[in-house]
Amino acid sequence: MNCLFCKIIEGTIPSTPVYQDELVYAFADINPKAPVHVLVVPREHLGSLDDASAEKRELLGHLLWAAAEIAQQKKLGNGYRVVVNTGEDGGQSVDHLHVHLLGGRALSWPPG
Ligand code: AMP
Ligand code: ZN
Repeated sequence: MNCLFCKIIEGTIPSTPVYQDELVYAFADINPKAPVHVLVVPREHLGSLDDASAEKRELLGHLLWAAAEIAQQKKLGNGYRVVVNTGEDGGQSVDHLHVHLLGGRALSWPPG
């Protein structure tokens, strides 16, 4: 499958690792939108949140847990944001489910 994030997980495309375990891989976003901008992705290819069936509930929870774990490691005690862009209207540009962890500055709301 010609998937950018699968290639990053395999290591055929380089990335800066931040956290990894048996279920997820997290790495620095190449075009950071905040001082901390990490992507947390499942090792298993899932196209988007919209492709996640009920049997993936544990994996989805693990992605969120990993984002919180990384936020603690990065000392984002003042707050942070997790984002899952989904589909065309959601602004998703890479079709492998990923959680953005953004922090290190005050983030405005609502998004554009
Ligand atoms: P999204 O727009 O929600 O699909 O997010 C995709 C993210 O992947 C963007 O924030 C990009 O900056 C990031 N990205 C694209 N290519 C790479 C790469 N080779 N390494 C790290 N991050 C990337
Ligand atoms: Zn993939």
